[in-house]
Amino acid sequence: MGILIKNGTVVNADGSKKTDVLIDGEKIAKVGDKINATGHTTVDATDLLVMPGGIDVHTHLDMPFGGTVSADDYTTGTQAAAVGGTTMLIDFALQSQGRTMREAYDTWRKKSDNKACIDFSLHMAVTDLGPGDGSQGLREMEEMVAEGVSSFKLFMAYPGVLMIDDGLMFKVMQKAAKLNALCCIHAENGSAIDIVVAQMLAEGKTAPHYHALSRSPKAEAEATHRAIALADMAGAAVYIVHLSNAYALDELKHLQERGAKALAETCTQYLVLSIEDQMPGKSWDEAKFVFTPPLREKWNQKVLWQALTDGSLVVVSTDHCPFRFADQKSLGRGNFSKIPNGGPGVENRLQILWHYGVNGGWFTQEKFVDLCCTAPARVFGMEKQKGSIKEGLDADILIWDPNAEYTISAATQRMATDYSMFEGWTVKGNAAKVISRGELVVDNSTKPGKFLGTTGRGRFVKREANAGGMV
Ligand SMILES: [Zn+2]
Repeated sequence: MGILIKNGTVVNADGSKKTDVLIDGEKIAKVGDKINATGHTTVDATDLLVMPGGIDVHTHLDMPFGGTVSADDYTTGTQAAAVGGTTMLIDFALQSQGRTMREAYDTWRKKSDNKACIDFSLHMAVTDLGPGDGSQGLREMEEMVAEGVSSFKLFMAYPGVLMIDDGLMFKVMQKAAKLNALCCIHAENGSAIDIVVAQMLAEGKTAPHYHALSRSPKAEAEATHRAIALADMAGAAVYIVHLSNAYALDELKHLQERGAKALAETCTQYLVLSIEDQMPGKSWDEAKFVFTPPLREKWNQKVLWQALTDGSLVVVSTDHCPFRFADQKSLGRGNFSKIPNGGPGVENRLQILWHYGVNGGWFTQEKFVDLCCTAPARVFGMEKQKGSIKEGLDADILIWDPNAEYTISAATQRMATDYSMFEGWTVKGNAAKVISRGELVVDNSTKPGKFLGTTGRGRFVKREANAGGMV
């Protein structure tokens, strides 16, 4: 007794085909024509697309930042993801300076215990290697890889909180190279940016608009170059997170052409939002769009879309890091540097990417699946379990209605924020049904926006160390 999805078009990164999919328990048992329906529950997918569930590799649930905590915990965050068609996310465990990675790992596993509603994994953000030569921290990296945490995040921004210096970063990269682990980099020159921030505040430039102006695209480009060059020296594979602008992209492409093992993602917001449209400097409302890197000038959008089509950017994530406008963003009224950095996005990634990417003519439905599902699984060491509609893989399946019109609004979203970055936008293309490890968890066609599974059913996924799929 399984679930048989009939009459749909199965879309994988390498091609589409009108065929059936049989789910047995938690796995995809069979993909093929005319599977006998006897004894199975049938789901009719006529005129619908049957795709792998989305994988968002960059979220921050229940994360302390700037004196508050991100608004979505593992329950609301994973339910919002599922409602939008995402069945797996990779969140960040943050090591506190002076503490161990193990402690950070345990803390984040506790945050997710009995709360996660879809499968998830963790990156480890390294801020400290311990006393002396750092051998304790480097040993811990081995332990983390053994736990299935095969990617390490390094911050080149936020001095005094999360930023590490180049020496520590290089040590981590050398160790990661030995372990085949992937180094994920927040690439911005935090020291230079902090000077600009202080100067702006001293000049009375305190509005949210100045957050964007204080973090130059060149500070991102410089750090992008430095991170990739150091990783190349260390022999490590590197993945630049939330690449936001053309200058940083130039550095990436230049070093990729010279053989560096460098990959990068961009995020939904940089593809469709801009300083001109969202942060022209007119109101406090613009605090809704304070995140890091900030929104860029509009001309960058086209360059990023192009980079997704030519393969220089391989993944689209969200950097979902939600804060409520009313009582959290307000911490930075009168001082943009105190506005909690981040925006809510996990629920809308697929809608935006489909509407502007596929309907907009930038790429095919297969490329959409690659950017949102298959490449994330490959780069982050879980392609044997997730990211494609293939026999033997987890039955994480998104049944997509390319003709469904949906208007995005904070009033109807599952994310726990009091605003949407895309308020009032109508998109064409939305999740109809979402299946997570063989269980129907969302049915937007009959119960829109509701999570139907039990809270806490999500499982931790151990990932392989495969150097971003580049070994
Ligand atoms: Zn982030």
